[in-house]
Amino acid sequence: MELHEFLTARYAEARAVEDSKWTIRGGLHFEWSHVYDKESDYVEVGPPKRRVPTEDFYREYGEPSPDLAVLADLDAKQEIVKLHGRLPLGEFCMTCDAPLGIPGLPYGCATLRLLALPYASHPDYREEWKP
Ligand SMILES: [Zn+2]
Repeated sequence: MELHEFLTARYAEARAVEDSKWTIRGGLHFEWSHVYDKESDYVEVGPPKRRVPTEDFYREYGEPSPDLAVLADLDAKQEIVKLHGRLPLGEFCMTCDAPLGIPGLPYGCATLRLLALPYASHPDYREEWKP
């Protein structure tokens, strides 16, 4: 996996997390509690208490609520990756290196390496990407 692919995957994961956020509208005439752990994921509603599949509950009473600032930040980072991930893959950045006419760092330019640093504990992160 190349550095720009690694970053694209991390941003896609972050976007999926944001896209899965929901807000429940107010004014429900019953109590509810989302229960989730390793084995369970359901919403308990009542009284009388009963279990409702999580997806059904959020679809009926919720609305998507991704953090728009987070989505804008991810969009900007994806555009940065596109600008700095240009050819040849990871070894010569047209944005950082071309103006100087000097070949860049192997695996990716300093910009991509810095963007990847927050994910250094990820199992797919490679030590040679460290800035
Ligand atoms: Zn660059």
